Amino acid sequence: MIHVKTTEEIELMRDSALVVSRTLGMLASEIKPGANPLKLDKMAEEFIREQGAVPGFLGMYDFPNTLNWSPNAQVVHGIPNNEPLKEGDVISVDCGALKNGFYGDHAYTFAVGEVNEPVKKLLKVTKESLYVGIREFKLGNRVGDVAYAIQNYCESHGYGVVRELVGHGLGKDLHEDPQMPNYGKRGRGKKFVNGMVVAIEPMINMGTRRIKQLKDGWTILTADGQPSAHFEHDVALIDGKPELLSTFQYIYDALGVTSNEEEEFRAKKTA
Ligand code: MG
Ligand code: MG
Repeated sequence: MIHVKTTEEIELMRDSALVVSRTLGMLASEIKPGANPLKLDKMAEEFIREQGAVPGFLGMYDFPNTLNWSPNAQVVHGIPNNEPLKEGDVISVDCGALKNGFYGDHAYTFAVGEVNEPVKKLLKVTKESLYVGIREFKLGNRVGDVAYAIQNYCESHGYGVVRELVGHGLGKDLHEDPQMPNYGKRGRGKKFVNGMVVAIEPMINMGTRRIKQLKDGWTILTADGQPSAHFEHDVALIDGKPELLSTFQYIYDALGVTSNEEEEFRAKKTA
C-alpha cells in the first residue's frame, strides 16, 4: 500500500533527507587515500545525532553500522572495517537518518584520489541515469517508466543493471511501497500520484549485472569482480513533477565541484 504524504509530511521528509545530504557532504572532505572507514562511520553517526536525528541503518535488520560502505566491486550493503581507502578506489556510501518519525536515505559513489577513465565514466553514467529516472517520476507515469529509462540508459553504455536490489517508497518506514526497480517495461506497474515520496537508486556494474553475497550476510558484490556504482536521491511528486528532497550540493561544495544537475528538480521560487 502506498502511503501518500501531506505537504507538512513532505517538509519533514525534506528535513530528514537533508540530514543525510549534510552527512555525505561532511564525509566528502574526509574520503581520501588512507582514511579509515570505521572512523568515518563513527563521525557520521555523531554528525547525524548532532542534527537531532538518529542513524537510519544502525540496528535496522541488525545492520552493525551507520553507513553502508561498499568499495570497488561491492555494490551495496558493505560493512565499514579497518581497511584504509586507497588511491584509485571508488567507495559507494549509503546513509540513512530518522528524524521526526521520517526516514532520509541516499547515497553517492566517491572517487578516492584519481580513478582511471573507465571508472570515471561508470560514475558519470550511473549518476546521469539517476536523473534520467527521476525525470520519469511524474504524474501519469508508472513505476515501469522510471525503471525502463534507467535500464535503457545504462545498458546503452554496455553496463550491467543490478536486478535483485531496488529503490523504494520512503516515509515512516525505510522501505515502503512501491518497489522501484532499475529495470522494467514502460507503462507497467503502479501509477504515480502526487504526494508520493520515493528513493530512486540505480546500482550499476561495469561488467555483468550478476551479483553474489559475502558470508557476512550483507555485502553484495559483482560476480565478475569489476567495479559498481550507486547513486540515490529522495524525490517527492509535487504538482505532477519530481522534486528533490535530498541534495548532492554539500558534496560538491566540499569537493569544489560546480553542477546545475539538480536545478530542474527544484521548486521554482515564486516572487
Ligand atoms: Mg540507500
Ligand atoms: Mg534506498
